[in-house]
Amino acid sequence: MSWHVLGAGSLGLLWAGRLAASGLPTSLLLRNQASLDSFLQAGTIAITRQQQSTAVALSAQTAATDEPIRRLILACKAYDAETAIASIAQRLVDGADVLLLQNGLGSQAAVAAQIPQARCILLSSTEGAFRDGSFSVNFAGAGQNWLGDPHNPAPPDWLNELQQAGIPHQWTTSIDQRLWRKLAVNCAINPLCVLHACRNGGLLEHLQEVHGLCLELVTLLEQCAGSSSAAGLFAEVEQIIRATASNQCSMLQDVQRGQRTEIRYLLGHACTQAHQRGLPVPQLDALQQRLRAQLLVLGLPDD
Ligand code: NAD
Repeated sequence: MSWHVLGAGSLGLLWAGRLAASGLPTSLLLRNQASLDSFLQAGTIAITRQQQSTAVALSAQTAATDEPIRRLILACKAYDAETAIASIAQRLVDGADVLLLQNGLGSQAAVAAQIPQARCILLSSTEGAFRDGSFSVNFAGAGQNWLGDPHNPAPPDWLNELQQAGIPHQWTTSIDQRLWRKLAVNCAINPLCVLHACRNGGLLEHLQEVHGLCLELVTLLEQCAGSSSAAGLFAEVEQIIRATASNQCSMLQDVQRGQRTEIRYLLGHACTQAHQRGLPVPQLDALQQRLRAQLLVLGLPDD
C-alpha cells in the first residue's frame, strides 16, 4: 500500500525519504505543476545526516492526480493544514489513515472535521530537520515520534512499516496530553525568546517571568489535559532552557527567516482555550498581545 506525503518541506522530505529508502512505495504530493516539473528534473530527494548525503528516488504528483489515497502524511505547517487537506480530501478512501505532523493544537481538529471518512492519527515529534535545498533536507536532530488517536486506542497495522523505515516511534494512548504538554513548554519559552531576541539560555535572566507563565499554564493543563500533564512544568521548562541554552527556538527561527509563525496553534490556542473555560490567564494574554504587536512590527502575520 502506498504512502502519500503532502508537503515537500523539512519533515515531509524526511518522512518520505526514509519510507522510500526502505523500499516502501511513497509518493510526494507537491503544491503545483511547476513544483512537480522541478522535482522531475532530478527525480530524487537528498537526506543529509552527519555530513553524509543520500539520494533517494521516489515518485511525485500534484493534488490534481486522481489516484486514491489510503495512507497520507500531512507534513505542512499548522496554518496550511486545512487548505492542504481540502485539496486532496476527495481522494481519501473510506477508512484511510492520515498522520498529522503539525505542531501545537487546533489544526488537527479542523482537519479531522473535513475528512470524516478517514482516521486521523496525531503526532508529537522531537526530531529536528531543516531544508537545505529545494528537495534536500538536513536531518539535524535525532529524537522520538509519539503517535496516537484520541478516539481509538488501537494502534494502526502499519507501525511495522515505520520500523522498517528506521523511523523511531512510540504508540501512545495519551497523545492529547503529550501535545498539550509540548504546547505549554513552547508557550513558556518561544514567545519570550522572540520578544527578547535571545537564544533559549537568555531566558535564565527572565526566570521570574517564565515562572509566572508556568503557573497559569499549569492551571490550564489541569483543566484541558489532566493533572499528570501539569506536574513539574516549571522544573521541566527550566531544565530545557539550561539544556538547550545555545539553541534558537523554532519561533525565533521563523521570525528571523521572515516566515509566518504557528502562534495561533500554540500561545493563541492556549489563550483561546483558557477564555472558553472562563480561566483568567492575564500573563498569557499580555504575552500574546506583546508577541502579536512585535510580529506586526516585523511585517509578519500576527496569527
Ligand atoms: P516546512 O515549512 O519546512 O514544510 C511545509 C511544506 O508544506 C512546505 O514545503 C510547503 O510548501 C508545503 N505545503 C503547504 N501547503 C501545501 C499544499 N496545499 N500542498 C502541497 N504542499 C504544501 O515545515 P516543517 O518544518 O516540515 O514543519 C511541518 C510541521 O511539523 C510544523 O507544524 C512544524 O511545527 C512541525 N515540526 C517540525 C519540525 C522540524 O524540525 N522541521 C520538528 C517538529 C515539528
